[in-house]
Amino acid sequence: MRAEIVSVGTELLLGQIVDTNAPYLSKLLPELGITLHHRSTVGDNEARLIDTLKLALSRSDIVFTIGGLGPTQDDITKETVAKVVGDEMVLDEDSACSIRDFFASRGIEMPESNIKQAMGPARGKILPNPMGTAPGAIFETQDDKIVVVLPGPPKEFIPMVGERVLPYLREHVGKQSGIIKSRILRIAGLGESSVEDKVKHLLKSLNPTVAPYASPGEVHLRITASAVNSDEASVLIDEMDRKIVDILGDRVFGRDDETLEQVVVESLVRRGLTLSLAESCTGGLVANRITDIPGSSAAFMVGVVSYANQAKVDFVGVDEQLLIDNGAVSEPVARAMAEGIRRRSKTDVALSITGIAGPSGGTPEKPVGLVYMALASDMGTNVEKHQFIGSRSDIKCRSSQSALDMLRLFLLNRP
Ligand code: AMP
Ligand code: MG
Repeated sequence: MRAEIVSVGTELLLGQIVDTNAPYLSKLLPELGITLHHRSTVGDNEARLIDTLKLALSRSDIVFTIGGLGPTQDDITKETVAKVVGDEMVLDEDSACSIRDFFASRGIEMPESNIKQAMGPARGKILPNPMGTAPGAIFETQDDKIVVVLPGPPKEFIPMVGERVLPYLREHVGKQSGIIKSRILRIAGLGESSVEDKVKHLLKSLNPTVAPYASPGEVHLRITASAVNSDEASVLIDEMDRKIVDILGDRVFGRDDETLEQVVVESLVRRGLTLSLAESCTGGLVANRITDIPGSSAAFMVGVVSYANQAKVDFVGVDEQLLIDNGAVSEPVARAMAEGIRRRSKTDVALSITGIAGPSGGTPEKPVGLVYMALASDMGTNVEKHQFIGSRSDIKCRSSQSALDMLRLFLLNRP
């Protein structure tokens, strides 16, 4: 089953908003046995939308349109799809009622233009939209092709896909062919080429396939299996997952959407340990990432952004002489920052980061990208020295990544 996604909206073409809906849907299709062959974007223009839809229907079995379902003049997707597939638009009483209710519940009188949103295909079906006023629709063409018409606002689009479209697709198209399923293994502390080198023989596998991707501070290995059903694909994926973990060990920190900060927070909470941070060059990025995780308050006590030397003295308790003798970016200062914040905050574990994020400020002895990080606990203090490359934000990001990974490995190996 070949599919195509058509995103509709002049604002998408102008780059005023980024199309997040199409990639969201793209990721869900393989597991249903639907292969996406094309994605395109077209403005709110009837003639060009007609051309795009005709082309899409000439080469795909199922076309998804996203956007253009609003009440205003420029929202023309549903009417245009009806025209292209040769269907009538009829008033759907249920939708008309829910649109009236939608306005009534907000104490607003419904503008007449909204009633057009309750029109649906005579031959197809309406997809209710409890999150807004624009229902979606499924059109069927004379030659058994399908056009699924979806709303643009993500808070309406995502629930409609999950609650209406996926069940429909599973019912109608999922069984015809095999499925494709993937899993991402997330790896920290190794570069892309070194990961590739270690799993080289596995990259030749045909089913499942294994493909490496680099993203800032981590490497992803995507395992993709094709099988007759999801369970069989999972068996193939699990087997490959084990082979990779046998080779890379604890460098594999998570799967799919799992982040380093999530793993770290879970690990701290599970062990009942508290954390404090003293950050310099990362400017609070590690604290920000930790506090992105719900429930982090059970473990995270305090983070100080001690950016200036004086702040390292006043708020973290670094000895002034240490700064004078070694400079802020040094092994002894990283150590003193971690030990100082741990002492002052009385936490179990403390992490510090000090480095040169650039683009200026580097010297031959201390180049841009030189970062020290220290971890202090009841087991003593460890300091790591890193030399990162990239822009200021790359260096901040990689520093936060390495610091979180340092903490993760410490927790993992703690007796
Ligand atoms: P529309 O249904 O085309 O009037 O779109 C309404 C709003 O939904 C737009 O102004 C965007 O903010 C959002 N939107 C539309 N299409 C997309 C898309 N493909 N990805 C993300 N947001 C979108
Ligand atoms: Mg629009």
